[in-house]
Amino acid sequence: MSYVHTLQGDILMCNKCRSSHSQAPHSDADVDTKRRHLLLGGSAISAAAALTPSFISFSSMAQTNAAPNMAARDSQAWAASGPNSAFKSIMIPRRAVGPKDVSLEILYAGICHSDIHTVHGDWGAPQYPCVPGHEIVGRVVAVGSQVTRFKVGDIGGVGCMVNSCGECANCLADREQNCLNGTTFTYGSEDKISGGYTFGGYSKQVVVREHFVVNVPTSMDISRVAPIMCAGITTFSPMQHWSLEKNQHIGVVGIGGLGHMAVKLAIARGAKVTALTTSRNKFEAIRAMGAEPVLWTDNNALRGLTASMDMMISTIPYPFSMQPLLNLMKLDATFVNVGQLGTIDGLNGMMMGFNRHSIAGSMIGGMKETQEVVNYCAQHNVLPDVEIIKPSEIDEAWRRVQDKDIQFRFVIDMQQA
Ligand SMILES: [Zn+2]
Ligand SMILES: [Zn+2]
Repeated sequence: MSYVHTLQGDILMCNKCRSSHSQAPHSDADVDTKRRHLLLGGSAISAAAALTPSFISFSSMAQTNAAPNMAARDSQAWAASGPNSAFKSIMIPRRAVGPKDVSLEILYAGICHSDIHTVHGDWGAPQYPCVPGHEIVGRVVAVGSQVTRFKVGDIGGVGCMVNSCGECANCLADREQNCLNGTTFTYGSEDKISGGYTFGGYSKQVVVREHFVVNVPTSMDISRVAPIMCAGITTFSPMQHWSLEKNQHIGVVGIGGLGHMAVKLAIARGAKVTALTTSRNKFEAIRAMGAEPVLWTDNNALRGLTASMDMMISTIPYPFSMQPLLNLMKLDATFVNVGQLGTIDGLNGMMMGFNRHSIAGSMIGGMKETQEVVNYCAQHNVLPDVEIIKPSEIDEAWRRVQDKDIQFRFVIDMQQA
């Protein structure tokens, strides 16, 4: 049997198995095995018990004549096989590097609360095994023939998305996260290039379209850059859109990974920042960032702040009564919710009308704006406060995130695997 092959840049792609060959080297048996593995890696899998280090091994794929860094290959990854299962090391497939692709050796991956929500099924049933991680920084190890912004050895960042149609009105407006034909998110999303679903940054390698990789200036401490890819852009984008200006007063609600980035980014703009937290043990760190900490359960303290703020950003990832916090805003101000993705509770129509308050949502940012926030952080020396862990410590880190025992972001050092 002969197989269809297509030249993609320097690589001859096999349309049967999505691997690369300089000629057709594999047998029928190889193709069947690879198809089965693709299915196992895709939505067809339901048996979490199948999660073993080799269950989606693509070892036969390694035998191609393409340059080793260009060929499809297995990558070590850390996966959850169910909502409450411990992380295990498995092998996942990463596609061959296409003409517009960048291949990264992942150096650091941030742990975002979204990872936990996703694996726990809080936002709908996820696909298992789930390899989370959408705050990725890595070294470029291969580039496709049409890649222009990266060369081998550069540092690249990948955030919450890895693909979109590139043609719809939203994509053309640099809002790829709102692609009308469906954004491909970094993990747990239908993979329109390789089939199956996407695997995220808790892994050693990833292949991503160049458009979805941002340049990380070498002047930055790359062990601290990863959280900018989600926490940074998620809080930077609303400050841009609602034009937070110097000397304006912003309230940031929830001082975790996102919230502390919001504080730092707002301070860098010259804004006055009130950090509303439930954790008194974060007060010192918040003051060190240049903000004023307030317990948002302290009604007396809140009363003193009534009608004082030009804008608020809430990063609280669970439902809570928002009206007491809206009352802290001036006339015409906007409360931007970036954390709570369920029903918004406790709003008072009379109070909103009286103050002409707006309540708004915002979700990450487009690729152009993600590059902007990375450049902004490099220029203004804004970096998250991170605690570096090994991949073997992911379970413990997740427990501590849920216990709010982290100041302020865990970053997995993939080289400590
Ligand atoms: Zn995130
Ligand atoms: Zn689109």
